[in-house]
Amino acid sequence: MNEADSRRVGSELEKLGYHYAPSAAQADVIVINTCVVRQSAEDKAYGFTASLKPLKQGNPRRTIALMGCLVGVKGNARLKKSLPHVDVFMPPGDPGPLIDHLLEQEQLKLNAFALARRHALQDGNLVLPAHLQHNMISAHVPVVYGCNHVCSYCIIPARRGVERSRPVGDIAREVRSLVAQGVKEVTLLGQIVDRYGYDAPDGPRMPDLLRTLNDIDGLERIRFLTSHPNYMDERLLQTVADLPKVCEHIEVPIQAGHNEILAAMKRQYTVDDYRRLIDRIRHYLPQTGIATDIIVGFPGETEAHFQGTLDVLAELKLDVCHSAMYSPRPGTVSAKIMPDDVSPEEKKRRLHAVNALQETVAAEISRRYEGKSVQILVEEKHKGKWKGRTRTNKLVFFEDEQDYKGKLVDIHIEWAGPWSMRGRPVGKRPKPVPEFILSSA
Ligand code: SAH
Repeated sequence: MNEADSRRVGSELEKLGYHYAPSAAQADVIVINTCVVRQSAEDKAYGFTASLKPLKQGNPRRTIALMGCLVGVKGNARLKKSLPHVDVFMPPGDPGPLIDHLLEQEQLKLNAFALARRHALQDGNLVLPAHLQHNMISAHVPVVYGCNHVCSYCIIPARRGVERSRPVGDIAREVRSLVAQGVKEVTLLGQIVDRYGYDAPDGPRMPDLLRTLNDIDGLERIRFLTSHPNYMDERLLQTVADLPKVCEHIEVPIQAGHNEILAAMKRQYTVDDYRRLIDRIRHYLPQTGIATDIIVGFPGETEAHFQGTLDVLAELKLDVCHSAMYSPRPGTVSAKIMPDDVSPEEKKRRLHAVNALQETVAAEISRRYEGKSVQILVEEKHKGKWKGRTRTNKLVFFEDEQDYKGKLVDIHIEWAGPWSMRGRPVGKRPKPVPEFILSSA
């Protein structure tokens, strides 16, 4: 979400005639986009922003703008006081305050042309920053902002505000303009993306949005995240199965593997509900990559509760598990009324246990790909190797002299580890083995 928000700020600034600077020290405008989902993220965001003070003192004409969840939709007076060198505070995803500030400051320099272009941008006609044009294969596109749920640990609803879905027309326009600039794959984003459209009665829902985007010429792949177990319904699964561009890739967090913890988290489903959901997903999409999120060390999580988490991961064998240690967030229900009673050492131990288990599960799933051919979309060349992803979101590397950027290629998988795979384009011979090895064999 922040990546997409940052890109939007970048493109708006380019409309005003700014361009990317190689470093903060050389920039006239510095924008810091922030995340506060865990305390460590908040500390990093705050620390980095504070560290920019000398740059502002060195050149008071420089504009420093702070954006995202550290600021939040409601603004934050204490934050403003403690960071006096910051000129502009922007809520998540809204470059408006910065643009207004710059327009005011530089009124004389800016002409009507720049303003007209800024206007054109607002109707979803997103122009990528110059360095990304025809260089960006996969783009994130927010489709629903904010969140109305109150998971007891989560600070996002307070900082990103109530759920607001973007109109289908705006999203389609943005995706078409991204495709015209070289993008081949979009990932639609929402805190609960399957709730797209729920904020407007009788409006289009996620399946309708997917159908509209599936018809866009030149777009090759569509993904969406994050799903919530209670909204991943059969109509949506059937739509994913039906539409050729929508990838077999579902991100649906369980968070914990014990009903008492799920209830305390206010997740509104049980472990059994989640089990049935995974069955349903696999029924509609037999070959699908499924990712989940886990929080370890939630208040009151006993060894037995935690064992439930390990058991369900071992049982369901999901492709990816994003894991995190519980971090109390000021203002959330869990931080207010539940003592953070699992020690840091114990949280770390549980985190390692989850990660070690997931590594064996992922290695087992990957091995099934060995000797098979998969279609990947090539994103970039990285350290001499082409890098792409399967429809199920597996990372694949291969070496070849040809230019594959932005192409769909069938790859014969030669080696598969837990986190990535290697192979060669189908139809290409394996690299010849050096003769001295052949003769010694
Ligand atoms: N709205 C999405 C994503 C939320 S943030 C969802 O509900 O899935 C991404 C992940 O961060 C969450 O899934 C959760 O696992 C983790 N997270 C959120 N709040 C947290 C907290 N206070 N401590 C630790 N992890 C947290």
